[in-house]
Amino acid sequence: MPHRFPLPPGSMIGVLGGGQLGRMLALAAARLGFDVTVLEPEPDSPASRVAALTLEAPYDDREALKTLAATCDVVTFEFENVPAAVVQQLETLGALAAPGKRPLAIAQDRVDEKEFFRSLGVATADFAAIAGPADIRAALPRLGGRALLKTRREGYDGKGQTWVEGEADAEAAWARVGKKPAILEARVPFVRELSVIAARSRNGEIACYPVGENRHEHGILRTTHAPARLSAATKAEVEAIARKTLEALDYVGVIGVELFELEDGALRVNEFAPRVHNSGHWTLDGCEVDQFEQHVRAVAGWPLGKTQALAEVTMTNLIGSEANDWKALAADPSARVWLYGKREARKGRKMGHVNRLKPFGEGDA
Ligand code: AMP
Repeated sequence: MPHRFPLPPGSMIGVLGGGQLGRMLALAAARLGFDVTVLEPEPDSPASRVAALTLEAPYDDREALKTLAATCDVVTFEFENVPAAVVQQLETLGALAAPGKRPLAIAQDRVDEKEFFRSLGVATADFAAIAGPADIRAALPRLGGRALLKTRREGYDGKGQTWVEGEADAEAAWARVGKKPAILEARVPFVRELSVIAARSRNGEIACYPVGENRHEHGILRTTHAPARLSAATKAEVEAIARKTLEALDYVGVIGVELFELEDGALRVNEFAPRVHNSGHWTLDGCEVDQFEQHVRAVAGWPLGKTQALAEVTMTNLIGSEANDWKALAADPSARVWLYGKREARKGRKMGHVNRLKPFGEGDA
């Protein structure tokens, strides 16, 4: 397809991945007059039920990729474990991918990701690349004697991670992560977990949303509160990190960057997601232009929208059976309810979220 920007309404946007992020991207795209084609291996996905078209096929299905390349004006992704080779293949077939394969490839490997941040002068946890228990034993003293072992690839929501309690635990820890190539990270003594959602447009314009403060339970995001109360210096540093990351990757679209804040306000970057992010769902009700519309704007070559917060927002994920309380949530005037239409409420599965707004200046009482 010839690519002319800004894309006019009526253009087709391809989305790799059919989960809730794809669903909310499709809703945002529809609002701006675009259509979405989703590529998703699973039947009956959340995004398929709002998209104009769904290709139900594996991500590397040659025919499906040809169709995407032939019919979509731009292709993006909502799932960061789409093989980077698939995005390469799409580009070979003449498709235009945004954000592109390099951010995807870097984000898929925790060691590459940390080295990338280091190359930008952005502080991370100290770490070592691990190919077996001997590497764990060798690195552990330098990393503080107790450290976090994570698989290099395909970990999410705290999966594929385990604390190594000491050198004697090296062998067992290696088995606990499935004997897969891994990273060993020093424990970051953080006081808070923060994230920033930011976007870069086709002409290099950058916009950052206010920083969110995240709480996790059992490795899964439970709440995001935004805007987080931060010192001016910390806020400026978060934004500088987002800007450096977007520019170094020549990025187009929305990114999520997760950070740890230390007691003295210093920051350590944990990771970035080359896509819209769960900790940005508060923007759906807290900003004039939410992260999904912002991503659509960026990949379509439109100007970015306003990112300032209109209220304080607490976003709470509805996990597993919690979404079964939809009647009570629907009757709660303080709750803005988002449900993802997943057929089965499996344990630990993100089924929806709720945003609760508090106008600025309103007391806590
Ligand atoms: P991740 O999969 O890297 O997002 O890690 C999941 C969670 O584990 C994070 O949200 C933190 O709560 C915790 N965590 C990850 N890395 C570290 C670290 N180096 N030090 C302390 N806690 C960590």
